[in-house]
Amino acid sequence: MWLVKWFERTMSSNRHPQTLRRAVTIDGRGLHSNLPCRVTVRPVEQATGIQFLHMPTGTLIPARAEHVNDLSLATTLCRDGIRLSTVEHLLAALAGLEIEHVIVEVDGTELPILDGSAAPWVQALQEAGTRIIPGPRRLIRMLHPVEVRKDGKWMRISPYPGFRLRYTIDFDHPAIGRQTRELTLTPEKFQRELGSARTFCLERDIEFMRSKGLAKGGSLENAVVFSADGPLNETLRFEDEAVRHKMLDLVGDLALLGAPIHGLVEAHAAGHAMHVALVEAILANPSSWTWQEEEEKAHTGRPVFHHGISDAHPLPA
Ligand SMILES: [Zn+2]
Repeated sequence: MWLVKWFERTMSSNRHPQTLRRAVTIDGRGLHSNLPCRVTVRPVEQATGIQFLHMPTGTLIPARAEHVNDLSLATTLCRDGIRLSTVEHLLAALAGLEIEHVIVEVDGTELPILDGSAAPWVQALQEAGTRIIPGPRRLIRMLHPVEVRKDGKWMRISPYPGFRLRYTIDFDHPAIGRQTRELTLTPEKFQRELGSARTFCLERDIEFMRSKGLAKGGSLENAVVFSADGPLNETLRFEDEAVRHKMLDLVGDLALLGAPIHGLVEAHAAGHAMHVALVEAILANPSSWTWQEEEEKAHTGRPVFHHGISDAHPLPA
């Protein structure tokens, strides 16, 4: 069993930082604004992390917690007065596939919602393929637990030799109720288990959201809507699609750390605000974690496995 676990872990991450092989462009409309937006994800030469570039103004916004501005129903970044909202699904696709160094050109103010999941982003990124940036992949390794709590909701991250998520939602709604899912993330598992889970809302909340000017672009084409009798959509993609989408959101929000992380992340009834609160708590407690360079594995004498999203990586000499 330990061998299986070790093998899973070794296979779970790339030792070198990854970027895209070529640029990809996606057009769509924002969920909340219903405004058109074109996004081009471009490769970079250096390990710069994920950075958004607002094309009309040339404003560069690193995907980092310090630039988070608003967390009501979506994750919004802001710098120098420029706001970019609903960034979390693209961030989830990038982080889930371990493509951690790109520049994201955006010509609007809200990223396209597409089908409400990360699947169209995943497909586009995979079609572009990946390439490595020379040097070790740096990640945050937890040494001590960090916890945030508010109004009965809580999140905790504890030391764990991989990136493991355990998420519970508990909705006072007959069509959702209590759902729990747990998994150790790899690019393959992200794509298979989480990537296609769609965003969701309750039918009873739609009128309120519209009154606040939100969800103007929302439809059954890009969200699951739960009525008291069940989903209004014809089918769900997973029986527990709701909790899987929360995990997808969490993967995207954790990317705001600015680096991949190894730890067991537990979330109970959380959402964007609490996801980002955990990120801020981790960054505010540097004694609770340390930097780890993936290349260290190469010095253990164990065989080193590589895998790419769509390319085999050469072994370093
Ligand atoms: Zn979402």
